[in-house]
Amino acid sequence: MSAVDVDQFRTRLLVERQRVVDAIDNIHSENPGSLADETEEPLFQDNHLGDVATATFDREMASTLEDNSTHVLSEIDAALARIEAGTFGTCQACGGPVGEDRLEALPWATLCIEDKRKQERG
Ligand SMILES: [Zn+2]
Repeated sequence: MSAVDVDQFRTRLLVERQRVVDAIDNIHSENPGSLADETEEPLFQDNHLGDVATATFDREMASTLEDNSTHVLSEIDAALARIEAGTFGTCQACGGPVGEDRLEALPWATLCIEDKRKQERG
């Protein structure tokens, strides 16, 4: 039984981190007129709202996206720190393994599925 393939997850985290940083940059260089041209940005593709609603929606969307992106960014940074600390893949609640399947789905997961469920149940 070897530990999780930390190098693989580090690479994934770094790729994902760059993607999030780019997304935040896009939000900051906000330019609503060019949104329609950004065909590579799936987040905005299905928003066929009225003109009046769109401006407000775009602002709120950008704000929400930035909140989410900033949050994910901190999660990714924390995961990278755990890799450096040698605690990556360890559940922060019970100290057991988070589980490789779970890390595959969410490389910055901090809880095993059982503790995650407990947390979600409150
Ligand atoms: Zn746990």
